[in-house]
Amino acid sequence: MELAVIMYHYVRDAERTPFPRIHALPVGKFERHLDRLGEKYAFVGAGDVLAAVRGEARLPEHACLLTFDDGLKDHARNVFPVLRDRGIRGAFFVITSAVEEARVIDVHKVHFLLARLGTERMIEAFHDFISIHSPRLAGLSELRIDDRQRLSPSRYDDILTGNLKARLNTLDAPTKTAFLEKLFRDTLGDEAEFAKELYLSWDDVNTMIRGGMDFGSHTHSHRHIDTLSPKELGSEIATARDLLKEHTRGAALPIISYPFGTGDYSAALLDQLVGFGYALGFTVEVGVNTNLDQPLRLKRLNANDVL
Ligand SMILES: [Zn+2]
Repeated sequence: MELAVIMYHYVRDAERTPFPRIHALPVGKFERHLDRLGEKYAFVGAGDVLAAVRGEARLPEHACLLTFDDGLKDHARNVFPVLRDRGIRGAFFVITSAVEEARVIDVHKVHFLLARLGTERMIEAFHDFISIHSPRLAGLSELRIDDRQRLSPSRYDDILTGNLKARLNTLDAPTKTAFLEKLFRDTLGDEAEFAKELYLSWDDVNTMIRGGMDFGSHTHSHRHIDTLSPKELGSEIATARDLLKEHTRGAALPIISYPFGTGDYSAALLDQLVGFGYALGFTVEVGVNTNLDQPLRLKRLNANDVL
């Protein structure tokens, strides 16, 4: 068997939006992906994979599951109509705090700030913030961001942008949050308004479910799993599961996509997930699955890797 799981994030014609520099897959290109994938694979839904894991059904020899992370409004506007017309069941993973509390997740704040300001202006803002907010840190030369040395192995970012992201990730959480919240407010305005435009609402989720789509968890607040204590992790998973269950009247599936795809996927973590009822887990480990022996550790292909 072969199960190719494809991972998508932003699907939009970015140049027609207020953020033309957001790295997004254009809708026409998404449709061409589906044409090409359809030549080789039979599209399956997450429910088919669950049934195969439970031994109740078999997958086609060359199966393909489409997954969409982050619960973006793009998915209701640009993905859902295309999939519904083609009779394909996509699997969508929402960040429940983004929907429930109208929060813009840190990683998305960075995307939209970079798209609006550009890397150099964002780095200037970072240096200014540090010198005012934490003069103690400002003297530390290792917090300066430049492009002399690559700090992150990112395949998608230039050196300077990669280094900015790497620096932000080394900050303590309160400092990072304070910086991003202030710069976001100053640059892009009210976070809650922005969140409503960026993410699916529960109404969107239910419309898509009625239209044949499947929903699962991308945790409550999209934190790196491997930085959390077992108790914090439990709360991230349980809160998301309970909100999804409540707002979809039980239609959400026991499937999870790990934020950033990170985590050591230790036996303890996997046991914890099973304890919460999860049966399928999606990583960002690159590859096509040739068996279902580790259903909580499924590999995926990035949309960019497909064609
Ligand atoms: Zn994500």
